[in-house]
Amino acid sequence: MNADILICGAGMAGAAIAYQLAVKHNVKNIVIVDPLPPLTLTSDKSTECYRNWWPGPGDAMVGLMNRSIDLMDTLHNESPARLPMHRYGYLFATADPERAKSMTASAEEISRLGAGELRIHRGASNDSAYTPVTQHGLADAPTGADLFLDQSLIRKYFPHLTERTVALLHARRCGWFAAQQFGMYMLEKGLECGVQLIKGKVESVEVEGNRIKSVKVGMNGGEQTISTQNFVIAAGPMQKQVGRMIGIDIPIHNELHLKTIFNDSRHVFPREMGLLIWNDPVALSWSDDEREALAESDETKWLTSELPSGVHGRPEGEGDMILLQWVYHNAEAVEPTFPVPLDPQLPEVALRGMAAVIPGLSTYFNQIPKPFIDGGYYARTKENRALIGPLAVEGAYIIGGLGGFGMMSSCGASDLLAKHIVGAELPSYAPAFLLSRYDNPQYQETLKQWGASGEL
Ligand SMILES: Cc1cc2nc3c(=O)[nH]c(=O)nc-3n(C[C@H](O)[C@H](O)[C@H](O)COP(=O)(O)OP(=O)(O)OC[C@H]3O[C@@H](n4cnc5c(N)ncnc54)[C@H](O)[C@@H]3O)c2cc1C
Repeated sequence: MNADILICGAGMAGAAIAYQLAVKHNVKNIVIVDPLPPLTLTSDKSTECYRNWWPGPGDAMVGLMNRSIDLMDTLHNESPARLPMHRYGYLFATADPERAKSMTASAEEISRLGAGELRIHRGASNDSAYTPVTQHGLADAPTGADLFLDQSLIRKYFPHLTERTVALLHARRCGWFAAQQFGMYMLEKGLECGVQLIKGKVESVEVEGNRIKSVKVGMNGGEQTISTQNFVIAAGPMQKQVGRMIGIDIPIHNELHLKTIFNDSRHVFPREMGLLIWNDPVALSWSDDEREALAESDETKWLTSELPSGVHGRPEGEGDMILLQWVYHNAEAVEPTFPVPLDPQLPEVALRGMAAVIPGLSTYFNQIPKPFIDGGYYARTKENRALIGPLAVEGAYIIGGLGGFGMMSSCGASDLLAKHIVGAELPSYAPAFLLSRYDNPQYQETLKQWGASGEL
């Protein structure tokens, strides 16, 4: 058997690159290999959010995401019922006046990087107009962001938030989409154009004269060698293992991230609210008795301390479900294990954390609704920039290090990788995603002063 291009992994990244190559560039004889059903390892566990609102340095992330969202918009327009997409935005909020200043500076920078106009609302007569999400759809949504620095305006437009909120940034080219459906759609379109999907595991790769020669695939208890000169690594949390097969150390580590979903039967979350991210650390609310009991045990006393910033959540689906995510233990690099270890404390901790932001959620403190928990690994580089492009072995490519942004970026990342593979003109942001960037001493210097990673 032979393949012109063999893709290792049928997650969102593998599906998207197969689509780009087969459907957009008319490449024939593409084979995807994965032991699992498509999009079932990490790509069906995401929060399905997207944003063009990304910090620097440089405009590479904003450029990649703008392109990705353009492509997602096109797919949505091809099949709106199957590929729903919302543009309710992201809401970053704080109760800390100092953090409000740094949020303002960061918003000005991101706007300058190409994410769109920043409109500041101070409650002055010459403020620009604000368009609430109820007044626009997907096609006519504003871009850029609205930054509220006036508490009465925050109360007016976001009455469900804590009165302590002093600044709120509503980033607009953002929202959520049926991400896994987008992946399945791209895969199906690829299969229609002749892509083959093989159930099997890439066991080893033969490299001869620094060139990809063949790939050994384990399947049905046996093995098959597939001759190919082009090998795309799209192995999600297993990029490092697959990289080793061609003698390349891929600088990606894995962090466990979980989410919880439950029924908001008392309708506390406004259904049209964007993804809400609280930028401040949170002290959970407990009764005096509860606090005393928790403080007595080494295992639980951390629950009475201040927990890190970043609790976030959004309404989910057409019913009353809400989705919460929070890495309240600082995320660490771990070896991925499957099934992923779930944390039964997540629903209560995340609910209490979010109740510091949306006080109405305290209505559930006495009886936490039955939760659903799942999650997976953010496979990320240290600076949280993806790896997209050719590797040092001729014919080897990577689309990975997609961290917590692999669903939103896959259209743009695969568009970029396909251009590398077919030799098309590359966009200006291409060099920022090459693995070889780490060989540049200037980049190593930049890494020492890297600011926010943009991870949620
Ligand atoms: C809780 C959570 C929330 C998230 N929220 C968002 C979000 O809101 N927005 C967003 O954009 N992203 C989000 N993400 C991130 C996103 O889910 C990932 O970046 C994305 O799924 C990565 O896709 P992938 O194709 O690279 O990896 P995966 O989906 O993990 O796919 C990799 C595939 O490679 C296969 N594979 C591995 N090794 C081999 C081998 N040797 N041979 C053959 N196949 C192999 C695996 O079986 C797997 O099917 C979230 C992730 C988590 C965990």
